[in-house]
Amino acid sequence: MDSSKDMNFARLSSADSLLVAAGRDRRRGSPLNVPLVPASNFVLGTERAYARDDGTPTWEALEDIVGALEQGRSVAFASGMAGIAAVFDQLQAGSRIVLPDDCYQGVAGLAESGRQKGLWSVSRLAVDDTDGWIRACAAADLLWLESPSNPMLVVADLRAICMAPRKPSALLAVDNTFATSLNQRPLDLGADLSFQSATKFIGGHSDLLAGMVTVRRNDLLIALRGSRELRGATPGALESFLAVRGARTMALRFERAQVNAMALAERLSAHPGVECTRYPGLSSHPTHAIARDQLNGYGTIISFDVRGDAAAADAVCSRVRLIQHATSLGAVESTIERRAGIPGQTHLPPSLLRLSVGIENVDDLWADLDAALQGRE
Ligand SMILES: *Cc1c(COP(=O)(O)O)cnc(C)c1O
Repeated sequence: MDSSKDMNFARLSSADSLLVAAGRDRRRGSPLNVPLVPASNFVLGTERAYARDDGTPTWEALEDIVGALEQGRSVAFASGMAGIAAVFDQLQAGSRIVLPDDCYQGVAGLAESGRQKGLWSVSRLAVDDTDGWIRACAAADLLWLESPSNPMLVVADLRAICMAPRKPSALLAVDNTFATSLNQRPLDLGADLSFQSATKFIGGHSDLLAGMVTVRRNDLLIALRGSRELRGATPGALESFLAVRGARTMALRFERAQVNAMALAERLSAHPGVECTRYPGLSSHPTHAIARDQLNGYGTIISFDVRGDAAAADAVCSRVRLIQHATSLGAVESTIERRAGIPGQTHLPPSLLRLSVGIENVDDLWADLDAALQGRE
């Protein structure tokens, strides 16, 4: 189902309307909501024979929604990492990959495992080293950017980097998970691929894994679908259904969480128990000017260093009550985690906590954080 054929999306200019309206079967008598279709195969003679090859109506609804938001065509995967692996799957042997120094650790792990097998070379650049990225564009086969980056929240000058000349066969991909399609549309800035983990804001309830890769080039659309088919990286029926349901309320959830995050970032930056607060919306943030220019909003993630050592930061995590001590991000519930405590993340400041702000009442969130920082149970 390509629902854009059934509806004049030109009349809808805003993402919040598209999130509600896209991906529906608008034919007379159809269910208003996309059904959960747990099918592996279909009666022959139609456009679909087998789900892994031809898709299902449920995944396609999710693809239609994200495609409409980013004005491209989207391919849904079993997880964010499955989508990222499908992008890496496009590389020829001997390719040169450039990654940010601060990025999702799964991407770095995937690149490193291929490097160890001799499939490609990998170099890393600071997220804000715009000149370095522009120079790297000339020779790289895959430029993987992430902005704002995880967990340091550095904003890359995507516009400048995307405009730099690159090899005709090169791919420039942006991990848009933290910004989401609501704050940033990488394809508009000139990226070839826009990625987001739908596990995070699209799902929004910490109850599914899914990943989306969105493109405007038809050759890439076909190649990504081909990789998904051959690797079997297909999204689950229930996960797709839940992700569609999550998408319907995403704009409201994101708006509320973002307002909460700005307020908490300001209060954290003035708190005596906090050494340093990183949030792109704070004027003190090193890449605030690019963020202001490039993003529609500053997001819902805050990183801050607790004054003291790793144990002091762990103690804050153990004392929060409303906020969940848990990994991941982008859900209705606020979560907090000490990132350097995770294997492979030892380069981070030891007392850095990453807070994913949810949709709870901001004063309750602040009371919880303030009490935990002051050592009250
Ligand atoms: C979670 C995440 C991923 C990976 O997505 P999964 O759905 O967990 O496989 C990639 N990039 C970023 C920035 C993420 O937060």
